[in-house]
Amino acid sequence: MNDCLFCKIIAGEIPSKKVYEDENTYAFWDINPQAPVHVLVVSKQHIPDAAHVEELTDTQLAACIRTCAKVAAEMGLNENGYRIVNNCGEHACQSVKHIHFHVLGGKQLSDRMV
Ligand code: AMP
Ligand code: ZN
Repeated sequence: MNDCLFCKIIAGEIPSKKVYEDENTYAFWDINPQAPVHVLVVSKQHIPDAAHVEELTDTQLAACIRTCAKVAAEMGLNENGYRIVNNCGEHACQSVKHIHFHVLGGKQLSDRMV
């Protein structure tokens, strides 16, 4: 996936503000934060979106959520809570076609989901 922005970030070809990395996931600050904490957690294995999760192993998929929880805890979000968001496809306005999870917190978030 030579053309993929997040694959390039994972490979270090495009700079990012890394928060956490392990065998299966990479986490970094969103370039356009929507909350005081806005970190993106990406699978190191490229798949375009949640509709393709069958292409990930259970370990790779679970690692994404584990990393979200780990990042949230490290950012001090456990006390007041946080939101994990995954956009899949056009109606969800997904802009980067490499599966990723937004970890959002650090303030009271909207009670609206959409
Ligand atoms: P989505 O709209 O769910 O596909 O989310 C893509 C996210 O990637 C957006 O929140 C963007 O602000 C973020 N983003 C785009 N380019 C970069 C970048 N180079 N570094 C960090 N975050 C980025
Ligand atoms: Zn990719």
